[in-house]
Amino acid sequence: MSEETEYLKKASAFSCPSCGSKLKYSAEHKKIACAYCGYTESVNPANDQVIEQRLDKVLESTAEVIIENFDKKVFDCESCGAKFMVEADKVNINCGFCGSTNVNLEGYEHRYIQPQGIIPFQISRHDAEQRFNKWIRQGIFHPNKLKSLAALENLHGIYLPFWTFDVHTESDWSGEAGTYYYETRRVRINGRMQTQRVRHIRWHRRSGHLKHFFDDVLVVASGGLDQRHMNRVLPFLLDEVVNFDQRLMVGWEAEIYNINVDEGAQRADNVVDYKLRSMCSSQLGGDEQRNLHIQSHKYGQTFKHIILPVWICSYKYNNEIYHFTINGQTGKVYGKKPTSYWKIAGMILLFVLFIASLYFLKESGVFQ
Ligand SMILES: [Zn+2]
Ligand SMILES: [Zn+2]
Repeated sequence: MSEETEYLKKASAFSCPSCGSKLKYSAEHKKIACAYCGYTESVNPANDQVIEQRLDKVLESTAEVIIENFDKKVFDCESCGAKFMVEADKVNINCGFCGSTNVNLEGYEHRYIQPQGIIPFQISRHDAEQRFNKWIRQGIFHPNKLKSLAALENLHGIYLPFWTFDVHTESDWSGEAGTYYYETRRVRINGRMQTQRVRHIRWHRRSGHLKHFFDDVLVVASGGLDQRHMNRVLPFLLDEVVNFDQRLMVGWEAEIYNINVDEGAQRADNVVDYKLRSMCSSQLGGDEQRNLHIQSHKYGQTFKHIILPVWICSYKYNNEIYHFTINGQTGKVYGKKPTSYWKIAGMILLFVLFIASLYFLKESGVFQ
């Protein structure tokens, strides 16, 4: 088979059945669409392939993908280390996570765990641009340069990788709950008798059992955006996850997971422990607590790999990288803007002048 026919074969899954052009997923129409002849196809709403995989059988239970078969190229960013894929025919590549053009094409084949599920983009580029423009105008202490810095060509529509974990837990807990009570007593202060209210604590030992199922603990597997930043644009409505379909990725970038499934499971475990502690603590009750001990048994751990839509704009200012992010499903916006210290200094100076002039007017007798 010649290289060309090989290429055509790979591309055929993305071809329009009516004119042969490349099909893309359109967030505007919420359909798979052909830009040339107007052919559209609804996204299959089924999610029967989005199934939990056993965590203890990762190697046996997961399907792998070869990214190059998606008609995409994989790039590595030299500045921030993010690894992402873009359309094979795209030129002028810059990194969505740091804005750098210092990106290297990777020649070799890439095998990764295939996503089981995807939430297609609901927020179109036009919509994302409007939200970005509105956000950039808010606040007064930001450098004027910001608008031009965060040029819209830096706005990337990108699917980010996530792991979701399920786990059953049974916890035995014990601890001491303290309840406050008060006593009044008469004391002499500076030679005068006064009534004082004194607080005491009565401690009770308690223990109990907590059974809880954690469903879809979401862990960001991105190398370009950290969990803390992502948390600000959560939640995603995970009941809208549908079966992974390569065509939903055509025309969009996608990041390749940087945190593998084991590390993701460890992070999910920390989240679960933290939540178990607060659940046991609220069962223990009291005004204060001490010596809370928890013994948890976790079983039936499963995971899924899903990819979720995000709009991201990254820009550098004074050698620091700032991110602006839109949840590509719900439209929730979060971003950090650099602060202009000149503008703040100007405001302080105005304020000082204002106080000084009030003082001057008072001294000169204007207010008498
Ligand atoms: Zn067509
Ligand atoms: Zn980068």
